[in-house]
Amino acid sequence: MTYRSGRHFLQIPGPTNVPDRVLRAIDAPTMDHRGPEFGVLGKYVLEGLKPIFKTKNPVIIFPASGTGAWEAALVNTLSPGDKVLMVETGQFATLWQEMADRLGLTVEFVAGDWRSGVDPKLIEAKLKEDKGHTIKAVCAVHNETSTGVTSRIGLIRKAIDAAGHPALYLVDTISSLASIDYRHDEWGVDVTVSGSQKGLMLPPGLSFNAISDKAIAASKKAGLTKSYWDWAPMLAANEKGYFPYTPATNLLYGLKEAIDMLMEEGLDNVFARHDRHAEATRRAVRGWGLEILAKNPEEYSSALTAVLMPEGHNADALRKVILDKFDMSLGAGLGKVAGKVFRIGHLGDFNDLTLAGTLSGVEMGLKLAGVPIKASGVAEALAYLGEANTGAKSAAA
Ligand SMILES: *Cc1c(COP(=O)(O)O)cnc(C)c1O
Repeated sequence: MTYRSGRHFLQIPGPTNVPDRVLRAIDAPTMDHRGPEFGVLGKYVLEGLKPIFKTKNPVIIFPASGTGAWEAALVNTLSPGDKVLMVETGQFATLWQEMADRLGLTVEFVAGDWRSGVDPKLIEAKLKEDKGHTIKAVCAVHNETSTGVTSRIGLIRKAIDAAGHPALYLVDTISSLASIDYRHDEWGVDVTVSGSQKGLMLPPGLSFNAISDKAIAASKKAGLTKSYWDWAPMLAANEKGYFPYTPATNLLYGLKEAIDMLMEEGLDNVFARHDRHAEATRRAVRGWGLEILAKNPEEYSSALTAVLMPEGHNADALRKVILDKFDMSLGAGLGKVAGKVFRIGHLGDFNDLTLAGTLSGVEMGLKLAGVPIKASGVAEALAYLGEANTGAKSAAA
């Protein structure tokens, strides 16, 4: 490979660009994970994650990708044959559902159009029908990374309550945590699944389960086979800041730094920044005359935008041009929308000028790939970003 000057633009919706502060924190000698210093770090990150999930309860850290934390959520709370209710919002819901099926659960997977989130009314109706309470868990993906569509987790909670149903509520926040407002306790979520490599600005390799008291109680009776993923030895060792097996020490240095950075910026500012970049991106897409995959404005994702290609144009061909010419990676269409959409990641360590560069690369790429565009979407996005900054606190203030 030959050297390409300047930073690569990693504008896929995860893994995201890792900030220098995090990279520098990781670049330190690995410490003894049974030694006295480790316990201090362990406690710091285990406590520091709680406000990010908005929970007072424990958050478990696995040395694993997000897929591992999906499995942990299921095997700790459910028993063979248990019925779980899931909705086909896109590729990630589909994969989690396949996993549940392989683990021996009975999945009711409600078909979806890959352009909408989970309909709270549908959940309420399904649970009301289930008079015998055979459904043991409702699983939802907060931010469906394959489509750029969110599900309204608080409203789904209300739907479960309205049905008076005792099902557990499991939520995947792998691509929303620390980018889009999320409230584990307030929304009565029993297991929140997350990962390190998206909004948390870390490299891949850590994943999380935030757990409710109800989930802990369920884990004492759950019958699915579990060993590595078992919460019990984790919770016991975590009391003193330690782990039952070797943790990903250097990634935890990075996690400490990322927690500090998020707290310095303030979570509300982090969310507002993601909202602003998402809105600017949508204005760019409309300016180009292209279609946003997400159907309902109240379900727009602030972490990424999936864009539909016009008839006769392939998204992967466009992505190749942009990678070759401008050294920028964009997200591919996954599963049912492969080749039909491309995804612009605007989450994690990101500012207005990173977005301006990203959108400029897309606009130049569209022209080079011969995709007809109506006008300059970049101009629309810049106008919005400029406006959003008038009167707002300057970065230096
Ligand atoms: C990235 C992602 C996953 C998969 O996580 P891995 O770390 O690749 O295992 C699952 N769900 C969602 C919503 C994601 O964005």
